[in-house]
Amino acid sequence: MVLRAISRRPVNQETIPQEVKPCCIHVFVTYDGLEGENQLDSYIFDLMETHDYENIFFCQEKTLGLKAIIAIHNTTLGPAAGGIRMWPYESEGEAIKDVLRLARGMTYKCAAAGASYGGGKCVVIGDPKRDKTEARLRALGRFINRLNGLFLTGVDVGTTPEDMLVIRQETPYVVTVPEAWGGPSDGSQATAYGVVQSIRACLKEVYGSPELQDRSIALQGVGAVGTHALKYLVEAGAIVTISDIDQERARLAAAKYNTNTVSTEEIHSLRVDVYCPCALGNVLNDQTIPELRCKIVCGSANNQLGDNLHSDLLEARGILYAPDYIVNAGGLLSNLDSLNPGGFNHQRAMEQVSRLYNSMENIIAISKEQNIPTSRAADVLAEQRIASIRHLKSLAK
Ligand code: NAD
Repeated sequence: MVLRAISRRPVNQETIPQEVKPCCIHVFVTYDGLEGENQLDSYIFDLMETHDYENIFFCQEKTLGLKAIIAIHNTTLGPAAGGIRMWPYESEGEAIKDVLRLARGMTYKCAAAGASYGGGKCVVIGDPKRDKTEARLRALGRFINRLNGLFLTGVDVGTTPEDMLVIRQETPYVVTVPEAWGGPSDGSQATAYGVVQSIRACLKEVYGSPELQDRSIALQGVGAVGTHALKYLVEAGAIVTISDIDQERARLAAAKYNTNTVSTEEIHSLRVDVYCPCALGNVLNDQTIPELRCKIVCGSANNQLGDNLHSDLLEARGILYAPDYIVNAGGLLSNLDSLNPGGFNHQRAMEQVSRLYNSMENIIAISKEQNIPTSRAADVLAEQRIASIRHLKSLAK
């Protein structure tokens, strides 16, 4: 069934018990020619049933124009972690679909990366350039606070660490704040460190040694993550070639780290040990995969595979693909460290991130044992961990 439109009908305030008034809204759904409140149950609850979502919270403060949705996918491993995405969704249906997809992704990311947290996400409907105000952010903070620690949040597309400081005025359940506030600030260094650990695990599998010395790497994108990754890789003795659509940025990075640059069109097709995409998604597709001349693809970019079938294509070409959501979990692990007693500790956070090496090893082992692509093996690793902890929780203490 395709969602055509979702519209909200105002609730008669008198019918809502006072204690739930501020965070309850009534949703009215129309799809595929079927209309009416009865269809709402089947639509939203069908969506929730498909992948076992625990809760969806609709948050509205009409006097401020705030509309947000918080989805909690799975809290078997711990409270749900996930960022706040602000985006001008064209319909409420689009926002619901996105928040559900992203929350489920967080469950898998936390589980496979070894974090004791579940998956959640918040989307705010609005244009971050136009619609973000202090009052709206703080009102959102109050909704998050009402969840009492069920949902822990941070930055995502359309929100910044500065926004988190504003939200933090209303709730402590915010992790991506500057170090002075007990947070890790920018997670891109930790993300880059996780990329490097994942590359090492892949090198061990393909070449028998995790050493980076003299390994050739094509690094696509020298933004926040790419620049940190470049530093780590060069310091470890790797031979890195870089590319960035921002030519000045590429030139400066190349001069600083004494590396070569190539055009954005050719970076993926270099004959190297590792292709490391740290820019955009959808870089592994029908056009690029036949052009790859690397043995390993391992980078931070989200959603690298055009679709799931592309992981089969990579496997058929004998290229080891490191699933993006594991490779780029370093920032998340580092952010979550700030929840430990005493706040953020850089060394402890990096130690946690370094375990992504083991996660990658486990994924490769599952992939070989079960003869499945690494992207599917990552899901299996996550599902196995959730199932085992669910079982543990069912045992008598
Ligand atoms: P960024 O915006 O700081 O850097 C991206 C860089 O890629 C920029 O320098 C940009 O000019 C360049 N770029 C864009 N299109 C390009 C192209 N076609 N070819 C070459 N370069 C291109 O972003 P970032 O924070 O470094 O994140 C990089 C990727 O990693 C993104 O996909 C992001 O979603 C993902 N990621 C980042 C983090 C993090 O901690 N920042 C965490 C998880 C995932």
